[in-house]
Amino acid sequence: MTITERKVVSIHYTVADAANAEVIDKSDGGEPMVYLHGAQNIIPGLEQALEGKVVGDEFEVTVEAAEAYGDYSEDRIQQVPIEAFEGMEKIEPGMMVTAESDDGQVNLMITEVTETTVTVDANHPLSGKTLKFDVKVEAVRDASDEEMAHGHVHGAGGHHHD
Ligand SMILES: [Zn+2]
Repeated sequence: MTITERKVVSIHYTVADAANAEVIDKSDGGEPMVYLHGAQNIIPGLEQALEGKVVGDEFEVTVEAAEAYGDYSEDRIQQVPIEAFEGMEKIEPGMMVTAESDDGQVNLMITEVTETTVTVDANHPLSGKTLKFDVKVEAVRDASDEEMAHGHVHGAGGHHHD
């Protein structure tokens, strides 16, 4: 079975920073990653590389930042008044917080705290990085109508509803 839209795909992968070959994440030794192909569940560059592959295929793909977690942008760094964080027990650099934006929820990293302002960075931690993936296709199956309607995988390795 070939990977196209409407397929549920299981892959094992290792992802490294292409600049220094440092491994960022891998599924080896754990459960494969399961995603719905064509539903933008995974980064565009990896999804494109998987198109047309079959079970058992192993390949390597280098994905530029723009096709991965985006380019790093200074525009995504903002200083906000510390009052915006009222009610939080502590605020310190390195903490992740979520905020509502026009595009839905965004994760922000707190990078600096002064007495009056907090600097937050909305860039993804992996933005600006070219990533190298080693991928093995473990399984491919048809997506159910329900999965297509929800835009994600159900069952083992997928999304669970209460
Ligand atoms: Zn669902």
